[in-house]
Formats: sequence, structure tokens, C-alpha cells
Amino acid sequence: MTNKPIRVRFAPSPTGPLHIGGVRTALYNYLFAKKHGGTMILRIEDTDQGRFVPGAEDYIIESLEWCGIRFDEGVNTGGPHAPYRQSDRKSLYKEYSDKLIASGHAYYAFDTPEELDELRKMAEASKQTFTYNAVTRKNLRNSLNMSPQEVEQKIGEGMPYVVRFRIPENREVVMNDLIRGKVVVKTETLDDKVLFKSDGMPTYHLANIVDDHLMEISHVIRGEEWLPSLPLHILLYQAFGWQEPEFAHLPLLLKPDGNGKLSKRDGDRLGFPVFPLKWKDPFTGEISSGYRESGYFPDAFVNMLALLGWNPGTEQELFSMDELIQSFSLERVGKAGSKFDPEKTKWFNHQYLIRKSNRELAADFRKIIDSKGFKPDDNTLEKIVELLKERVNFVPELWNEGSFFFQQPETYDEQVIKKRWKAESADQMTALAAFLSSVEPFDSATLDQALKSWIESNAMNMGAIMNVLRLLLVGAAKGPHLADIMAILGKEETIRRIQRGVATIVQL
Ligand code: GLU
Repeated sequence: MTNKPIRVRFAPSPTGPLHIGGVRTALYNYLFAKKHGGTMILRIEDTDQGRFVPGAEDYIIESLEWCGIRFDEGVNTGGPHAPYRQSDRKSLYKEYSDKLIASGHAYYAFDTPEELDELRKMAEASKQTFTYNAVTRKNLRNSLNMSPQEVEQKIGEGMPYVVRFRIPENREVVMNDLIRGKVVVKTETLDDKVLFKSDGMPTYHLANIVDDHLMEISHVIRGEEWLPSLPLHILLYQAFGWQEPEFAHLPLLLKPDGNGKLSKRDGDRLGFPVFPLKWKDPFTGEISSGYRESGYFPDAFVNMLALLGWNPGTEQELFSMDELIQSFSLERVGKAGSKFDPEKTKWFNHQYLIRKSNRELAADFRKIIDSKGFKPDDNTLEKIVELLKERVNFVPELWNEGSFFFQQPETYDEQVIKKRWKAESADQMTALAAFLSSVEPFDSATLDQALKSWIESNAMNMGAIMNVLRLLLVGAAKGPHLADIMAILGKEETIRRIQRGVATIVQL
């Protein structure tokens, strides 16, 4: 590690909703910064105007806020290197492009898009790919093949141009990645990428390097998809004579079967979100689901993401944000891609759910209960939540598991009737209702005892009675412990449901 102050940045392009892979990149940057007492920066890279999507920047900011990832400097926060949105820094990049031209590291190219297209097509026809490089640039319309007067004249006439980086010939670029180790690339394999366009806009490569330098970034932590750009970036640092930051390229998030990068289509196909928040495409109106709207707790979501690519080296799986900050290190980020596991993701939410207090869960659940028009008291709702929470992964599932606490069964499960309802059931249940009217107090422990002795003294079968009783109270063969349900329903409602159930079922 260098002795420079630790400064990292998350640098998304607002070209759509933030994929969970992007959230993970932001998270690892955040954990690394906080662990080392460093600074976390949010920079918006919006130089590619053709790919700009309205609403995407706000979406990114809201997503990171939901996750609890905080920035010390950035678009909304401000800071000593403001502005932090590249389109607001536009006037700054030309100077750097000019510097590279002056030092011979870059050149003007006047080839039209049509000419380049033609070259690409010709190459394709002979099963090759066209690259603008040390060989081809000798025969193309660029300043390397023109007199300075000619170049000046063309620019003066307003002829559109791009500035291309002049990849040095016959060199090896040696890169040190904190996750991948040493990587060496020969410059023959690289092409003369565009750095700047005559409309005054830099490309990603130039703006990214200039800003990382000006913002004094010490560590660039980003997705593996940027690894192919690293040789160019290193060469750019060298061309400017700047010290390069450390680099760490994070492994990809893979589809659940491990075959390729996790995409939005996998989420649609397999029924899980790949975005942190719901997103509505401003052009097509298409809606994509989000973790927040699907009932995930942000801390569970963050915990799950942290372990997709990093491991603590112990068996521990549950980490608060503070614990993640304490434990995180880039050394324990793997090289191989991590398979996304939708079931494990639910498991994390379940773990967080069962650890929430009944009071907190009841407050969340009350929003759903309210919308259904029920008004249980806090105490009752907390008891219900306590009984149900082991059975669910998400708060809204509490309703599916326990709606019978609030409303009597409308129907009775036919399969259960067929299997459990016997000729004697109606009489037995009527007798049981009469007996229950004498049980006092009507709490779970007393009910357990009372039911047991009533069944025994009448020489009845425990299983048979309990299954039919459950059918009448719940409408199906589900739910928590029966005496707990009865205690919550109360004596009057329990007896009413038994009588109503018997009356309904005998008529079927
Ligand atoms: N703007 C790039 C992106 O959208 C940033 C890549 C980097 O971190 O250098 O991912």
C-alpha cells in the first residue's frame, strides 16, 4: 500500500439503472475507504451524451443511499475537487488533450465515420478486424501523415476531427493488479483509442484518467470489464508523467449456473431482481423490479452482495456494515467470478428478518394490515409476528402466512376435508366448542393442557381432533401451534369459527 492518503471513487455512467454488480463495486470501494480512514468519492461519468438516460443519475444516488453507502465528496455532497459531474468539467479536458498532442503522444485524425466503416467492412470481408494502430495509421488521414500547415488549415476550416492516442510501438505494458497480480500486454495488441472529439467532449478514457489524477485517487477499484482498458490507462499516465494509482479489478457476478455474466434477462427468466430499486425505462416504459420493492432489507442486501466475491476467511456469514468495514480486505477478493444465488439471497433476508425485534417487524407489518382494513392492537400484532417470523423471508409474506388471524376462513381446503373430516367430526367439534367455553384463562399453556385432558378423557385421537380443529380455525392445514392461534383469536372467536365451520362443512 502506498503512503498516499486513501482516496477512492465510484464512477458510474448514467446510462440506465445501476446493476447489482455496480452496487457491489461501490460497496467494495466504500468498505476499503472506511477501513483505511480514507475518502469515498462519487463521480458521474457522463461524457458519452449518446448514452445518457434521464433519471439514471438520481436512481444511482438513491440506490446507494438506500444501501447505506455514503460519500465524502461527490455530485450531491460537493468537495474540494468540485464539480464531480464530468459534463460540468467539460472545459477542462481539452488542455490535457492538447498536452498529449504537443508531446507527440496523441494526434489528430480526420477520417470520416464513413471511411472508417468502409475499412471495417473490407477487413470483415477477409475475416479480419480493422484496428487503428501503428501499422494502419501510416496510411490514414491523420496529422502524423500531414504537414503542420495542412493540419492547421483543416482545423481552421472546421473539419471534424478526433484526437487519438498514439500507442507506442514494440513495448510491453506491465500492470500490477491488486487482485490479479502482474499482467503484461504487448502494445501491438492495442489500438489508438479516441481521447477527444472536435465537439469538445473527451471520451471515457481521457476524462477518467484526468479526473482520477486531479482528484488524487489512490486506488481504482472497478469491475473486471475495465481490465482491457488498463494498458491504455497505464500508457496515458506515463504519457502525462503522472504517478498511476493502484488498480484492483473485481471479478464478475455470474449467472446462477455460472455460465456468463449475470444479466437483466436472467433476473426476468428466473424471477429475481438485478437492480437495487425498481426502475421504469423512460423510453420504453418497461418496468424492472428492485430489491427494495421486493421486500429486502438494505442491510441484508448489502451483506449478501459483500460476500459475492469477497470472503472473510472464516465461517461468519452475517455482517453489519461496521463489521464489513472492519473485516474487508482486497486480498480476500477472489479472481474467479461469483455465481449469484437467488435462494441464498432470500436466506440472508430471512436471517435479518428473524433478528429484528417483534416491535420493529410489527410496525412494518402494520402497513400491510392497515391497507387491508384491520386494526389489531400493538401487543396482539407483536405476538402474531413472533409466531410467524420463522416461516417467512419477507414482511409481506407474513400476510400470506397469517391472514387467518384477522379474517375467518372463507373456504375450507377440500383436500384436508377429504382426508380428515369423518362422520363423527361434527359432533366432536360441537362438543369441543362447548368445552372450550369453560376454559379459563384462555391462554396457550392452559389451552394445551385443557385440550389434552379433554381428548384423553373422551378417548379420542389427538391427531384427528387437532387436524379438524385447525381446519375450522384456519381453513387449511397450515399455521403455527394451535393453542397459540386460539389464544390470539380469543375464546369467543374460536368458538364462533368452530360452529361456523361445522355448519358450512356439513352442508357440502
Ligand atoms: N464510467 C465507468 C463505468 O461506468 C467507470 C469505470 C471506472 O471505474 O474506471 O463503469
